[in-house]
This record gives sequence, structure tokens and C-alpha cells, in this order.
Amino acid sequence: MAEHDVDFFVIGGGSGGVRAARIAANHGARVALAESYRLGGTCVIRGCVPKKLYVYASRFADDFADAAGFGWEVGAARFSWPKLVAGKEAEVSRLSDIYRANLVKAGVTIHANRATVLGPNRIGLDTGAEVSARHILVATGSHPVFHPDIPGIDLAISSNEIFDLPAFPKRLLAIGSGYIALEFASAFVRLGSAVTVVYRGDAVLRGFDHDMQAGLSEALGHAGIDLRPRTSPTRIERVDGGLRVHLDDGTTVEVDQVLAATGRVPLTAGLGLEAAGVQLDASGAIRVDRFSTTSVPSIHAVGDVTDRINLTPVAIREGHLLADTLFGGRDRATDHANVASAVFTTPEVGTVGLTEADARERFDVVDVYKAAFRPMKATLSGRAEKTVMKILVDGITDRVLGVHILGHEAGEVIQAVAIAVHMGATKAQFDATMAVHPTAAEELVTMRTRTARHTRGVAEAA
Ligand code: NDP
Repeated sequence: MAEHDVDFFVIGGGSGGVRAARIAANHGARVALAESYRLGGTCVIRGCVPKKLYVYASRFADDFADAAGFGWEVGAARFSWPKLVAGKEAEVSRLSDIYRANLVKAGVTIHANRATVLGPNRIGLDTGAEVSARHILVATGSHPVFHPDIPGIDLAISSNEIFDLPAFPKRLLAIGSGYIALEFASAFVRLGSAVTVVYRGDAVLRGFDHDMQAGLSEALGHAGIDLRPRTSPTRIERVDGGLRVHLDDGTTVEVDQVLAATGRVPLTAGLGLEAAGVQLDASGAIRVDRFSTTSVPSIHAVGDVTDRINLTPVAIREGHLLADTLFGGRDRATDHANVASAVFTTPEVGTVGLTEADARERFDVVDVYKAAFRPMKATLSGRAEKTVMKILVDGITDRVLGVHILGHEAGEVIQAVAIAVHMGATKAQFDATMAVHPTAAEELVTMRTRTARHTRGVAEAA
């Protein structure tokens, strides 16, 4: 008889957990997975997927407006929020069902329950049942936090609620200037909201390259978003017909909804981890080694709950490689270097590798190549739109250290560029690549003139 009920028990049916469960089962492990909500996790149910659908919906507004410059006469366009929400719901349900079907096909036992860790090899379900497992994976993700701690912050919503609001918010205020605040601000202003974004810093998108921050701020301003840097809310109150937000500059803004997009924290509370001996860091994230194993050798963790790089494809890779390591006979650590990402504002920001500030801190000589231009489509449409492309190069080895793009479909472009950067391509190899004309991305292989060279501690022009 087997020593344990299962070989692998996965807590959490999101991107990382589902991938790990499926791959482990394919390797022949006996696998169970507990998910008390819908299968698919934040990304599928109330994150990346529905967000991208809303972004697509929002961009029709630009297309309708741009069409006139190309000779089209478009009648008055009307947008239906209930129709978009219903369409989104159908697609999310379809994807969640596919997740379930794939798990079932792989032979994974699914428990629609909350699970807690009772010990290094023991899981408790909220039915009272207990399961013993050779290995346990915690893949519970993260949840939104509401900041700042001001009177009335409980009146705000998070990205969890915004997709299914019963009424479209004609006036929206977002707190924060990270991925979530800006993606929703950019989508909702195009769907017809009056949008205000308040944030405590000088620049949006902390940690991004400064040219992307500046270019995106300008574009969001052009889209009609009221950006309020160096501003914090002090109180939110309910008033007739909506919410009044008091700001620390003495002004107030009246809106229908306040979106708190002020970060996410690992979902580790109440899981029994500390009692089982699993070490957490100060933020509550699970500490893991490069194979995603915790301080308890039989307990592992992947995805947002470990607070490494909180992106879906990273969680998926961590889950996949963990399953290979535990059940596939191959030790496989996740490489977290040069992870590309995109911010799905309009225009998008696509980024891979180091920012200029980071590159200058880590390398003795950094060459900067930069191009800012009006995309071809904006000529006839008359849209005030700017594309910015930037390549950072190690001035000694010629290796490309980072690429940053602000522009149409920057997410698609950066995915392809990331292959070259991941392979360690040099600027000379970028230059040797033939351009595709006419595209915006051809700039990446035609930028010949250095904009600046930074030698450690000294800035000199090209
Ligand atoms: P981010 O960490 O990107 O941004 C958080 C924002 O909240 C920042 O502007 C931050 O300000 C602000 N903030 C934090 N604490 C406070 C406070 N006490 N008072 C006022 N402002 C505060 O988090 P998001 O919520 O936007 O997104 C969460 C995570 O989800 C992201 O980090 C990302 O990993 C993931 N995500 C990825 C997406 C993608 O890949 N396209 C899309 C959406 C989410 P400051 O900068 O000053 O610290």
C-alpha cells in the first residue's frame, strides 16, 4: 500500500497550481488539487484575461474616431456595458471549464474546497476530511490591498469587483499608478468614464524606465485622464449620487466608483503554514529556494504567494519546473532573468531587461539608443500619438541590456525582442537584422545613432 493518499496535493487552482498539477500527473504522480472558487485563478477569472477583453473593447473608441481621417463616415457609436460584461463572463466561463477538463483528462482529483496545511505531509479540507501527501504545493496567489488607511477606504473597490459592476461608472477615480490603476484608467476613459488617477509619487509606473514613464503620462493625459501626481486621498464619503474623495491638496472629486489599485499581497494567512514550519518573509510571502521548495522539504510554493516576479507566465513556469523536478527526474530551477512584461494601457508599454537607471548602476559604460516618432497611422487620423523605443547597451561588450517600447501593440513586439535579449544578443546583431518595412518595430534594428553614453559617474553626450 502507498505510504500517502496522493503524491502531490496542490492548494490553489490558478495558473501556477493548475500547470504543476497537470504536469505532475503527466509524469505519473497521483495528484489532487483544492480550489474553493472557480478554476483559473486571478488571471483567468478577474485579471489578465477579462482585463484584455475590456482593453480591446475600449480601443474601438479610438478606431471610430480615427476612421474619419481615412475617409470613413461613422455614425454615432453607443457602448453597452451589460453586453461587454456578459461577453466577458461567457469567455471566462469557457476558459475555466477548459482548465477543469484538462485537469480531469490528466487524472487530477479536484476538490471544490478550502484546504489548509496540517503538517509537512498532511492537508485538511473544510469538509473535515484529511489527505496525506508526499509533496504539497501552495499556489494560493495574492489578493488586493486597500491603501491608504483613510476614513471611507472601505467604500472603494478593487480589481476583483470592477469587472462586474452592475452599472457602468461614468466617473472613476483610481488610487495608485501601477499596472492595474493605469490599465483600467486607460480602458475606462475610452469606454466613456471621466477618469482621475491620484498617486503619491512624481511619476507613474514606479520602477519602469523613465522615458516610458514620461511618454505614458503624456499619452494618458492626451486620452483625457486627469493625472494627479504627488496627491493622496484623505477621506472618502458617500454623497447623493456617488462618492466624494477628499485629496490632500484641499480639492475634492466626485465619482461613481473609487478603484484602489495599490498593490497585492501574498495569500498565506490562515493556511496553517507557520505551524507546519514554513518560513514566511515580513510581507507574508513564502520563502522558497530556486526550485520553489520552502523551508520544509516536502512543501513547495509557486506564483504570487512567493512574491518573486508576480506575473502569470512566471507562475506557470515555476509550477511546470517544480513538477518536472519532483516527478520528472530532472532538477529544473526557474530562470527569473530578462522576464518581459507589458502594461496594457493604450498605447502599451513593453519592456524587457534593465531600465536605464538600473543599467547605469550595474554597468561601467551604458549606451542609450532612443527613437521617438509619430506612428504612420496617426498621420491621417490626426491623433497626437508618439511611439518611443529605447535600447540600452553594455558599452564594453555590446550586449543589449534592456529594450523598452511605448506604442501600439508593444506587448506583442516585446515578446519577440525578449528572445534576442534572453539569448544575449548584441547591438551589432540587432543592426545586422533586416528591417520589416513599413513597421514601427523596424526602428529596433535601424537605430544607429547613439543618444547618450554613460560612463560610471559621468554622463556625456553621444
Ligand atoms: P503595483 O505594485 O504595480 O502598483 C501599486 C500602486 O499603489 C503604486 O502606484 C504604489 O505607489 C501605490 N501604493 C502602494 N501603497 C500605497 C499607499 N500606502 N498609499 C498610496 N499609494 C500606494 O500594483 P497593482 O495593484 O497595480 O498590481 C499588482 C500586481 O499585479 C503588479 O505588481 C503586477 O505584478 C500584477 N499585474 C500585472 C499586469 C500585467 O502584467 N500587465 C496587470 C495587472 C497586474 P508607489 O509607486 O509610490 O509605491
